[in-house]
Amino acid sequence: MASDVGVRLEAERERIRAAAIRANRDPASVRLLAVSKFHPAERIRQAYAAGQRDFGENYVQELTTKAKALADLAGLRWHLIGHLQTNKARQVAAVASSVQTVDSVRLARELGRRRDPELGPLGVLVEVNVSGESQKAGCPPAELEEILIAIESEPALRLEGLLTVPPLTDDPEDARPHFTELARLRALHGGAARLPELSMGMSADLEVAIECGATWVRIGTAIFGQRPSERPAGEPTEAP
Ligand SMILES: *Cc1c(COP(=O)(O)O)cnc(C)c1O
Repeated sequence: MASDVGVRLEAERERIRAAAIRANRDPASVRLLAVSKFHPAERIRQAYAAGQRDFGENYVQELTTKAKALADLAGLRWHLIGHLQTNKARQVAAVASSVQTVDSVRLARELGRRRDPELGPLGVLVEVNVSGESQKAGCPPAELEEILIAIESEPALRLEGLLTVPPLTDDPEDARPHFTELARLRALHGGAARLPELSMGMSADLEVAIECGATWVRIGTAIFGQRPSERPAGEPTEAP
């Protein structure tokens, strides 16, 4: 019998498929990133057994611990979707297939320097603060081009696209202007040829994101259920 995670995963795949078709898009052009933060490794195994390969984590310590615990799962790919401090770049570069939250030239350089070329290039997305909220993560749009250039000049990195996290609200439609703005920034900075991926949309607003061109949707709660509210031990700083 399928696990509850397997059942929910299938329901989310169907949601993505339906939203893509409604938006006149190829369903295969939207990938699902299963956001497993705060959920135990056992739940990730269940998702893996149901065919999921891409997992998103927000915290470096949690990512490295889980990567070790799940090293036997062939083909599993880890993506960092939380704020990354430069001094932890080495740890992430050793295990991740992509970092979706690069927000400075300095971090791009450090990841490029720390990535072992033997592992293949590290995928990089730039997190953009499109809402302009001062407390939000991501680079201001005005800094985007210099960060893109810094990534392109690092042989160990592969520029993949842009990510944004809109302000939290109850109405998924509130996210639309932020998603539209990310798509506009992509068009402004070389389009899909330079920036193939748009990582936007979560459990509550993935349909809107897909209408606006998302190629990665990051889904946690709808697959794994409510997150236990505590933070993982030893990482007091960043919010989920
Ligand atoms: C936690 C998180 C998600 C998943 O959010 P859900 O609402 O649980 O689907 C997606 N993206 C980022 C950046 C997150 O931190």
